Amino acid sequence: MYDLHCHSNRSDGKLTPTEVVERAWAQGVQTLALTDHDTVAGYQEALTAAQAVGLNLISGIEISCQWSGRGVHIVGLNFDVDHPELLSMVHLQSENRELRAQKISEKLSKLGLPGAYEGARRIAGDAVVGRPHFAQFMIEQGFVKSMDGAFKRYLGTGKPGDVKQMWPVMGEAIASIEAAGGVAVLAHPDKYKVTRTRLRLMMKDFADAGGAAMEVISGQQDSLVSKEMARMADQFGLRASVGSDFHFPGPGWQELGRCPALPEGCDPVWDHWG
Ligand code: MN
Ligand code: MN
Ligand code: MN
Repeated sequence: MYDLHCHSNRSDGKLTPTEVVERAWAQGVQTLALTDHDTVAGYQEALTAAQAVGLNLISGIEISCQWSGRGVHIVGLNFDVDHPELLSMVHLQSENRELRAQKISEKLSKLGLPGAYEGARRIAGDAVVGRPHFAQFMIEQGFVKSMDGAFKRYLGTGKPGDVKQMWPVMGEAIASIEAAGGVAVLAHPDKYKVTRTRLRLMMKDFADAGGAAMEVISGQQDSLVSKEMARMADQFGLRASVGSDFHFPGPGWQELGRCPALPEGCDPVWDHWG
């Protein structure tokens, strides 16, 4: 069984890379890709854990980028994790995130909450600082009562603590994955809040820029949607990938390895791996 999209605590998941691998193995996954947001920091640990149990680990990443002014996620699979072009993309992304975190902190400071960067940094631990860490710090300081409140009043889009991300364009994310010998996969296509017409335009641009595959099966997705995604993959000549997009156990996220079989006629990404 394949699961080619999941997260550890090296990005916004809760389990360590070792725990993710062991849990995936227990769920019956034979081939796994750990695809943390904009980092490959969990790869070595995951590989050690995978070798210990006999699971086949594929290198992975989920790169944040923009297409037509909106955020899009591109999963990279089966690439050289030490490739300079890939590493420079990872470095650029962490600089982007740091810069954004500092700007959020400045805004929160003006709103009456000093020290937010340091607080969020401490809460994030090994992970890259993101808005959920700011939200936790705000709760800790009694500035808000809940995560929901933090986003609704301060951190959400258009709120006083909102800072736009400066992501690379989609073509650059694809190019860095391809340069490192990997396959670029359009992540969770049904999750973007766009019309089907816009989605087709996104897929066409993705394929034209060298994108090779898309997630036909993603997370907790209706089987009718999966069939529709399979037709779209066929239409744009894209291979098919599958991923739970697991972040942590419990409600809200799909369990590792709970990926239904690909619909008839799909061309699985892994059929092209040596
Ligand atoms: Mn995530
Ligand atoms: Mn995503
Ligand atoms: Mn994801």
